This record gives sequence, structure tokens and C-alpha cells, in this order.
Amino acid sequence: MRDVPKQQIAPVYRRRIGDIIVTAVSDGTLTRTHEMMLGVGADEARGHLDAACRETFVLSVNCFVVHAAGRVALIETGSGSYLGPSAGHLITNLAAAGVTPDDIDAVLLTHMHPDHSAGLTDLASGQANYARAELVVHETEPRHWFDDAAMARGTEREKKLMFQQAREQTAPYRDRMRTFTAGEVFPGITAVPLPGHTPGHTGFLIESGEERLLIWGDVVHMPEVQVPRPDVSMVVDTDPEAAAATRRRAFDMAASERLLVTGMHLHFPGFAHVVREGDGYRLVPEAWVQAL
Ligand SMILES: [Zn+2]
Repeated sequence: MRDVPKQQIAPVYRRRIGDIIVTAVSDGTLTRTHEMMLGVGADEARGHLDAACRETFVLSVNCFVVHAAGRVALIETGSGSYLGPSAGHLITNLAAAGVTPDDIDAVLLTHMHPDHSAGLTDLASGQANYARAELVVHETEPRHWFDDAAMARGTEREKKLMFQQAREQTAPYRDRMRTFTAGEVFPGITAVPLPGHTPGHTGFLIESGEERLLIWGDVVHMPEVQVPRPDVSMVVDTDPEAAAATRRRAFDMAASERLLVTGMHLHFPGFAHVVREGDGYRLVPEAWVQAL
């Protein structure tokens, strides 16, 4: 008898954008319920899942390595040890992409939630996982998550997983943190503020030659629902109304400009176009090709 495979192999996907190579590397997946969404009851959620031939809501947790102008950026660090064993696999999976943590010149964060920033630091040792990297983030993110008054208003879960996590995970990077408001933050990468999900939530537009890719962070968590219904926000959004307005604006831009997008919670690797459909939108996943 031959042994059957017992676990998934490292999910890695490459895409060329002009002279820049973007490598999607998975941190794993999270399973969530409709209760994570605002204003979507069990029956409606079931209808969206049925339409997508799915039993549950599965969120990919995607990270992206960018090779540009002889330098290497990592966009997001995954979940580390904060969200259970189905996620937190980024560093293992980076190896399959031929990337070691010491290769990373800069870590760019879309925001400081635990599925994005909790892989910065090894909690047990307190050591930075990316020893050489500067930490690059919108100036409003540390300002919000390091604010004691804002933390005091949070639920216990928010205090631990968001405020405390952001503080302990960024601690070894304090003397090498670079904040921005907009503009080019790394060669070929421009920050696109997309506030609402968090106050400093930011997408990254990668541009080289005639080609562009928008990595839109957490504009979408549950594609089965939020793409056809962009008005649906999440309980974890700091400002749900602003998040919905940002989502409409991002979808409208992507559809009008035929812009290639991907995101942290689109099903891995997430590269897709957005097209208008009815009152909402539809994602058209990109076909995989052998040539890079
Ligand atoms: Zn997220």
C-alpha cells in the first residue's frame, strides 16, 4: 500500500507585473460564520453559500512577496500563533517560494489586525521574525492601536487581539518603523488609502510599464456575499459605513479601469478582475499560466 498525502503542500503563485514579480504565499485559512457580517441573517447567508456551492465561509489569509528594483518587500505577515492551527504558516510556506525571512528588506502592512501583523514577531522569544526589515505602515495605524483611550473602549477580544497584538508584534521594529500617508512606499509600490476597515487601512498599487495590480487588503472578507452586496460590512470594521463606501469606490475603480486586483481574503491566490452585475459586482478569477 502506498501512503496517501496527509497535508496540503505550500500554496505559492507568481504573477509578473511589468518588471516586478509578485508572489502570493498563503498563511492558511480561517473558517468563519455569517455572524461576522453586519445585517446578514442566517437564511440570506445560506442562500449566498448555496449559490457558491459552499458549506461554510472560508477566508484565505494571503500574503505577497514583491521583487522590485533589486529589493524584496513582504506585504503582510500572516497570523503567527494568534488564530489557531489552520493559519500561521507563512514562514514555512515562504521557504517553498525560495524566500527566507532575512531576504526581506521591508514589511508593508495594510493594517494591524492579527491575521496581517501577528507574524512579525516570535512571541516565545520576543525576536523579530524579519531581522533586517523595516516596517512600513500608514501613520494612522500605530496612532490608533497604540492609543490607550481607544483601547479602553474596545471589547476584551479587541483589546487582546487588536490593540495588545499590534503593540507586542511591532515592539522589536519600533526603531525601524517608517510611516506614510500616501505616495510611493517601495520601488513600484504606491499606497492607496482605503479607510474604514481600520482607520489607516491601505491598499498597495503595484505598477511597472503598462501593467498594474491593486492589492486591496481587506476591502473584501467574504467574497460570496460582499462582492454582489458591497453594502455588507463586518463586525470587525472600525467604521462599517466608511468600509462600505471604500468598498464601492474600490470596486468601481477596478471595474472602470479593468484593473487586476487581489486581496488578503480573496480565495488564494485571489488575482481577479471586477465586473459590474446588477446592483453589485462579480469577480472573474484570472487563469493560471505557466509562463512568468
Ligand atoms: Zn484580515
